[in-house]
Order: sequence, then structure tokens, then C-alpha cells
Amino acid sequence: MTADPLHALDEEQLAAVTAPRGPVCVLAGAGTGKTRTITRRIAHLVGTGHVAPGQVLAVTFTARAAGELRTRLRALGAGGVQARTFHAAALRQLRYFWPRVVGDRQWQLIEHKLRAVGQAAVRAKAGTDQDSVRDLTTEIEWAKSSLITPAEYPAAVARLRRDSPGPAEQVAAVYAHYEELKNRAEMLDFDDLLLHTAAALEEHAVVAEEFRDRYRCFVVDEYQDVTALQQRVLDAWLGDRDDLTVVGDANQTIYTFAGATPKHLLEFPRRFPEAVVVRLQRDYRSTPQVVAAANTLISAARGRVAGSRLRLEGQLPPGPDPDFTEHDDEPAEAAAVARRIRRLIADGTPAAEIAVLFRINAQSEAYEQALADAGIPFQVRGGERFFKRPEVRRAVSVLRMAGQRGGDDLVGTVRALLAPVGLTDEPPAGASARTQWESLLALVGLAEELVAVRDGIDLPAFVVELETRADAAHPPTVQGVTLASLHAAKGLEWDVVFLVGLVDGTLPIQHAEGDDDAIEEERRLLYVGITRARRVLAMSWALTRAPGKGRQRRRSRFLHGLIPDHHPASRIAADRSSGNKPRCRVCGSPLLGAEAMKMRRCGDCPSDVDMELLDRLRSWRAVAAKEQQVPAYVVFTDATLAAIAEHRPSDVAALVGIPGIGARKLDRYGPDVLALVADRR
Ligand code: ATP
Ligand code: MG
Repeated sequence: MTADPLHALDEEQLAAVTAPRGPVCVLAGAGTGKTRTITRRIAHLVGTGHVAPGQVLAVTFTARAAGELRTRLRALGAGGVQARTFHAAALRQLRYFWPRVVGDRQWQLIEHKLRAVGQAAVRAKAGTDQDSVRDLTTEIEWAKSSLITPAEYPAAVARLRRDSPGPAEQVAAVYAHYEELKNRAEMLDFDDLLLHTAAALEEHAVVAEEFRDRYRCFVVDEYQDVTALQQRVLDAWLGDRDDLTVVGDANQTIYTFAGATPKHLLEFPRRFPEAVVVRLQRDYRSTPQVVAAANTLISAARGRVAGSRLRLEGQLPPGPDPDFTEHDDEPAEAAAVARRIRRLIADGTPAAEIAVLFRINAQSEAYEQALADAGIPFQVRGGERFFKRPEVRRAVSVLRMAGQRGGDDLVGTVRALLAPVGLTDEPPAGASARTQWESLLALVGLAEELVAVRDGIDLPAFVVELETRADAAHPPTVQGVTLASLHAAKGLEWDVVFLVGLVDGTLPIQHAEGDDDAIEEERRLLYVGITRARRVLAMSWALTRAPGKGRQRRRSRFLHGLIPDHHPASRIAADRSSGNKPRCRVCGSPLLGAEAMKMRRCGDCPSDVDMELLDRLRSWRAVAAKEQQVPAYVVFTDATLAAIAEHRPSDVAALVGIPGIGARKLDRYGPDVLALVADRR
């Protein structure tokens, strides 16, 4: 039975779903049903016969997200619709058109990109150590995604005041050499796939005609993260037509480092003045508690562009408050998270409904270890690691060697072939044996999934699918706790989310320091993380990396304002600051160094707080407290004053975004506070 595409939609969602074919734009916050709206729209258009399933192309940004789209579409009876990443769609089209556009010359996807960039760096006499080469590679990718050629690079860097990983002329030379090396070897990188696809359609009328005849209706999810290059492909797909639905949330733009920009999303209504534009604000995913944390975090963002100021309204019944925990070191943090997960599972939460999210993949290992030690099955998402696990490599090679065996029953064949390498009927005892068993089972699950959607798929085709997925880092679903980077978690949701490793230097990441835009992108990453949780949201950090060793760290500056004043984590801060271990009054972390002690804040906190304003607020508070004969903290706590001096709210809306300022305080003190801030401006 398939669901009715018009069932359980609110008024605004329904408007987007049932809008006639043509431009539609949904600008909305996290969890408001954007992905739901586009899948329903596709199913509705297909179901009512307005378009054939094969004529729809839905694109998104990760293989995982494309997989989710396909799953949802299948459930709605629109399984024939193509849902792919930009790259996968381009790869397919290019394979098809290539012979006509280029002729007999073959091409290959570049396998050792870093090596090629390294060689180019040698030629350009640039840095060739691992870090430099990686930075150069990222920079080349940014330039290509932004449609900037080597020759244009230096001027673009100057125009954008971009921090390039070396002298601009030299980076341009590396970029030029890389292109040359790659082209000479007749290889394409991922960006070339998109470039060539766009070029094929732009320059070959016959190709464009055939393509546009085939695909007539386009849908883009997560449109806030489109790059100039992807936009060019999209424009080539469209031609002069306008049957395009886009949905996105500018506050979840997290790939600007790679050339993405929310500009195309925000300007869509201007580009297509006749577009149906819908804004969604009701959050159907998360409890009001989680929604409040998300609103608080994002309302403190600096330089938000018009069109991104949406305030989410939680629709679910209330749940627990988000919680915050400080640990001495990372292994202690990981062990505590694993213990808590074990209790959750014992109390009935399915492991697959729990996620641990972190900023960088290197953080994963401590959690893999801790979960394995606790005997909890898990999967690492967004990573190529699944296909690198020894048991998976062994399994894939067994399947490959089996060749044509098996006949019709793919699932049965896969099971039988994997039995000798460890796929028993019942899960084995022991944590690591269990993890391996889950991986093998996931391969069987994938076979089941594919059989359901692809007629006549046989073993060799299955092996090809596995290889493609290994290339695209798209692992099958394992029934276990999800470990994922914040980037890889976009668009997904879990009942329980642990956001771990929340220290300055990790989130925001070290290299964002000193660049306001980069810091804001880090804030959006945390916003993405928070909004993944349906009910339980646990945030934690550790003061040192390893037990008893290393530099002291402080909890992420973004938590300031999220942690309520009365919360134990803040209380620790208050207690210790009056005892022998003083803490920063801005962020609550331990204070290090004499200067910090004197200022009662960390060296890098002050740039955020207007000290002069803070002093004036303090004097004002003293007078107000005296007038009303109450202690000063009853007017506003220190933390609230610091937050005001940090965020410098310019209007009532911004002022209520600061924790500790409810309706009563707003009435009583709002005008005074805003006047003080305005004075300073
Ligand atoms: P993100 O910005 O994180 O990608 P989104 O806007 O795409 O979020 P969805 O994933 O489509 O949001 O929806 C979030 C959750 O809310 C899903 O579990 C979805 O099923 C549910 N949901 C959306 N709309 C409704 C509705 N009208 N009634 C009930 N549940 C809904
Ligand atoms: Mg979504």
C-alpha cells in the first residue's frame, strides 16, 4: 500500500505540493518538512499524471540524502523517479553522451588526486608536505566549484579578500599544472564531471534536445548549498524552461568553504517572479526544548542575510531539556556517552535511533572504541570506512570471485556466499565479532533493497553496485548507533543525538579563527547538529585531549547562551570562579594565565564582548537593583549582561533571543538596555 501524497500536510506544505508545474521555492527552517514537501510534490505530480516518473530528476548533495529521497519516493509509489547527487547524475549523463561529444577517447575518474596536486606543487615550487597539498587541493576544488579558472584565480582572490593557502600566483600555478597533468592523463576529477556535463548540453544542441526531451521536471533539496558550478549544470538541464522546485534553509549553509552559496536559493523568487514561494516555520521534528536551543543559537548569528530570519515553532509535545556535560578528557567523555547509550538501549531506545555527531572525522575513533568496548553496534556514516573494514573487503572479494553463480535469488546467494566468512544465522558473542557480523548483514540488507527496486539484478550487477558505492562512500544501513560528522548528518534525524567534543578549536574549528564568516559557518554546523534531534539532545566537551595531559581547552563559545544560568555546568563555573580554580565569566572555561585571571575571561573571549558596554550595563544594573531593593542578579545575571554586551541587540526581537530575558524583564528593562546598546553603537 502506498501513502496518499496529500495526507498529513499543513496548509503551506500543501500549497507547495499542489502548485502547478513551474517554479516553486520553499524557504524554511530545519525540520519543517522541506524534504517531505518535495517528495510529496513529486509523488503528487506523478500520481495525477502531470509528469511521468522517468521525466523527473531530483538532486541533492550527498549519496545518503539521495538514498533517503529514493526510499521516501518508493513509499509514496513514485519509485521510478531518479533521485541522485549532482555528481551521480552528471556521471550517468556523461557516460551516455560522451561518445557523441568527444568520440572514441576514453576517460577515467582520477584516483590519486592528492598525488597529482603534489606533483603540480613540485612544479610550481609550492609546499609539498601533506598539509600543504591537502590545502591546495581544497583550494583548487573551491576555485573549480566557483567557476574560477587558474588565470582568473589571483584576481578573484583579491576581489573576494580570500585567504588563499599561499601566494595567489603560486596557487594559480599549482592549479594550472594540476589541470594540465590530469588532462594529459585523460582523467577527470569530480568537478570535471559537472563541467563537462554542462558543456555538453551548452555546446551540443542535439544532446541538449535529447536530454531536455527526457527530463522535464527538476527538484533540488538542500538548495542552500549549491555551488556556482552545480548551478551551471542545473541551468544547462533546464534550458529555457522553468519546471524547477527548490527547497532549502540558508541557516544550514555549511559548504561555503567548498564554494557553496545560499545566494541562488534566496534570489530564486527574484529570478522567477511568477514562482510559488512558500515559507515554513512549524518544526515537526523536534520537541519545543530542542527547537528553543536551535532558535537561541541561530538568533545570535552575526550578519544573517535577509530571508534567513525564520524562527522555528516546535509542534511536538514537550520533552527533556537539552543537557550539557563537561568531562576531564576525551576518553572519559566517550566512555560516558557509551554508558549512557547502553542505558538508553536497555530502556528500549533502538540503537538506530541514536546518533553521535562530531565536527571532524578524527573524533570518530574514540567513540568507535568506546562503543565497541561497550558491545554496542554502530555504523560510521559519511565515511568511506565501511568499505574499508576488513570483513567488508573480504566479503566483497568473495562475492566478486563467485562470478555468475547463484541465478535468480540474489539475496539467498549473497547470504550463502557470506556464511563462510562469518554471516551466521544468530549474532555471535563478543563486541568486535558482533560489529563484523552487522557489516555482513548490512550487505545482505542492501541486496534486499536493490532486489526490491531493480528487476533482474544479479550477482555481477550487485558487485558493480558495491564498487560504485565504495567509490561514492555510500555505505548501506547498519542497524546500530550512527557515528557521523555534522556535515554528513545534514537532512537526517534521530530520537537521541549526542553532540560531542564541543570545545573551541574543534567547534568552531581552529582554522576558522579570525574569519567572521568562517566562524558563522561553524555556528550553522552546530545548528544543523542540534536540529537533528527529535527528543533527546546531549551536548558534551572535554577539558583535555588525553588523561592528565595536554593543554587545557575550553568549551565551545557557541554554548554560551545555550547553557541556562542555573545549569550544573554553569554552576561548576560559578563555584570554581569563587574558589581556587577561576573560570572565564564569558564562557565558563578554566582561566589560564595571569592576563586572563585579571580580566576574568579567556584571551580570545573579549573580542566578542564590548567591555565598555558591559561596564555601563553593570552600573545601570546597580542603580536598577538599588531602586527596586533587590540583589543585582535578580535584575540580570552576569552571564546575561555579558551576553548583551556580546550580541549588542539592536531591537526587541534580538533582545528576547538572549537567554535570561523573558517577557517580564523585557517590559521592565528592555527600553533601558536597548538605549544603552544604541548609545554604544
Ligand atoms: P532539514 O532542514 O533538516 O532537511 P526538512 O525541512 O527537510 O528538515 P523533513 O525531514 O521533511 O524536514 O521533516 C522533518 C520531520 O517532520 C520528518 O520526520 C517528517 O516526517 C515530519 N513532518 C514534516 N511535516 C509534517 C506534517 N505536516 N505532519 C507531521 N509530520 C511532519
Ligand atoms: Mg530535508
